[in-house]
Order: sequence, then C-alpha cells, then structure tokens
Amino acid sequence: MNRTTVEEVLALARAEIRALKPYDHAAWDPAFERLHANELPWRSPTDDSLAGLNRYPEPQPHELVRLLAKLYGVAPDSLLVSRGSDEAIDLLVRAFCRAGEDAVLVTPPTFGMYAVAARIQGAAVVTAPLRRELGYALEVDRIGEALQTAGAARIKLVFLCTPNNPTGNPLEPATIERVLDAAAGRALVVVDEAYVEFSAHLSLANRIADHPQLVILRTLSKAYGLAGARVGALLARPEIVALLRKIIPPYAMAQPTIEDACRALAPSQVALTASRVAELVAERERVAAALRRSANVRSVWPSDANFLLVEFHDADRAFASARAERLLVRDFRSQPGLEGSLRISIGTPEQNSRLIASLGGAA
Ligand code: PMP
Repeated sequence: MNRTTVEEVLALARAEIRALKPYDHAAWDPAFERLHANELPWRSPTDDSLAGLNRYPEPQPHELVRLLAKLYGVAPDSLLVSRGSDEAIDLLVRAFCRAGEDAVLVTPPTFGMYAVAARIQGAAVVTAPLRRELGYALEVDRIGEALQTAGAARIKLVFLCTPNNPTGNPLEPATIERVLDAAAGRALVVVDEAYVEFSAHLSLANRIADHPQLVILRTLSKAYGLAGARVGALLARPEIVALLRKIIPPYAMAQPTIEDACRALAPSQVALTASRVAELVAERERVAAALRRSANVRSVWPSDANFLLVEFHDADRAFASARAERLLVRDFRSQPGLEGSLRISIGTPEQNSRLIASLGGAA
C-alpha cells in the first residue's frame, strides 16, 4: 500500500494559495461590544434572528462546526462548513488546480458540478466513465492509468461520488481504497457522500487519519431536508481544512442558516431525521418494485440514494406522462451512458403513487 504524508498533499496545492495571507476579518469575541466592523447598532425591525442580522456572522461558526463534527464523527478542526457542498467543490478546485495546467478526474455519468467547477477555474476534465454493463461500476485501473500518464494535464483531484448521482449505486470501500492507493502522492481523492444517509454503506470519514489525500463531502441538503439553507461540510486533515479556510469568503455562512442548521442538529431532530430516512428508503423500494412491473420500463437500477435511475423502452412517452401528471423528473434521455433514462426523486407516498400510475407501474 502506498503511503502519503499530509505535507505531500499540501504540496499539490497552488503555490499562490499556500503563500496567501488570508483576509483579516473582524475579530470575533462575543465578550466585547462591537464597534469594529462598521455595522449598524440596531436590528432591522423585521429581524427575529437570535444573534441579530445587523451583525456579521461568525466565520466558521463554532457551534455549527461542533454539531456537524459530532454528527460526522470527526474532530472540529477536520471540518470546514460551506454554502452547500457545491461551494466545497469549488474551493477544492480553486485551491489545487492551476488554470491551463492542472486537471480533475471525474467518472461520468456523475454529478455535473465537479466538471463545471473545473472549467470555471480553467482546469481540464479527464474522464474515466463508469461501466454501465457492470451496473455503473468504477474502473479503478483506468483511473490509475490516467493518474500516471506523463505529459497530460496533471490530475490534482479525483472526484468519486457514493452513492453516485444519478446512477444510485454505492462504491465498495475496497474500491475506494484502491483509488486512494493509486492517487497516493499524486492527487487528492474527493469522496462525495451527499446521499450516504440513504445507503447501507457507512461514511469513510474514519479513513482520513490513514489517508491524508482523502477528502469527504457531506451535506444537510438531502437527508436533513435543508437544501434551501445551503449547508455543506468538507471533512479532511486539519492542514487541508486550514488551507481551504484561507479562500472561503470570511462570512460565508448566513446567520439565519447557522441558526436553522443548529436547530436541525439537536439530538431529537437528528433522531427524527433517521426515521424519515427509513420511511424514504421504504418508499424507494416500493416505487422501484412497482416500476419494474411497468411494460415501458427496461430497468430500474438498484439505488442507495433518495432517487431512482430508470431506463425506459420509450422514455419520451414516460417523460410526457409524468409531466401530464404535473410531476417533474430529471431528463437524462440524451446524456451519454444514460440513453433512455430518467432520474426520479422519491417524493411523498401520495406523489410516488401518482408517479407510478402515470408510468404504468403496478403497486
Ligand atoms: N453532491 C451531489 C452528489 C449532489 O447530487 C448534490 C446536489 N444535487 C451536491 C453535491 C450539492 O449539494 P449541496 O446542496 O450541498 O450544494
């Protein structure tokens, strides 16, 4: 097994970012009265927040960081809170990829933001497509070869998504370990666990100690139902978190979001979330079984997430039928590797039953 040190991983970051002196934000000390940040001393009349929206929020709010770190089983200094995991993806690409020189590796069909963030930064996008005929399996050897190809743009970040969006399948931990070995000393491996709460697989957060090149992305947008609040978390070795802290905007997390997320992470709420996840997973299996009985369905791929990828004989008809029922589903009909497929998020039991009926499934 290849071993890499956190110093080697940090050396992969852009030299300007390693050398950057971050913005010196207004000191955060609630024991003092604030005459140092050019804020208004009064609240806006409609402001019902706890802390007061006239005040800049706490950078990396320690109570939210503490609650998230507890939830994900890491030390608080191993966690960066961000505006959704979308922002964490962007921060990683900006910190590690030099425009015009470096690349990210993605495994399509997968979440589109990895490639978009890379292109915004001017980084190249190398692909190692999943093998549809093997249930959208990852080709580790292909990733290993791409990482070693001399002359090509230097791959700094390998994005893996488990369970994968939009195919729904999880990656085996042993498969991810093989990618980590292939990437040791060469690239970071970013494992996006946005949907892991819906899966039988556990998070790999406890592998960070052994693999400094491992970064995990989590979010409150899915299982916790806070997509509108925008809360993501990046889990990594403290040195990597410290590097990314230098480039996240100083007051990234809005105060209402901080307060909402802290409320949602109270123990009673966490327990409620677990029971809702169980309900959603049961609904997912009900919808999958019903759709498999539809004559128009070619395959319902097994899913560990809160959606199903469904391949149709006549996908145009399926898409039109769902729309006629005023249900939006995600259209992947013309995406390579997903021809004839729609991605269907699991809704309420009532919505799911209407969807099944519209697609000719049988309960
Ligand atoms: N990762 C994956 C795999 C996703 O599907 C999504 C959202 N669709 C995200 C990250 C972004 O989530 P967030 O709301 O935390 O930015």
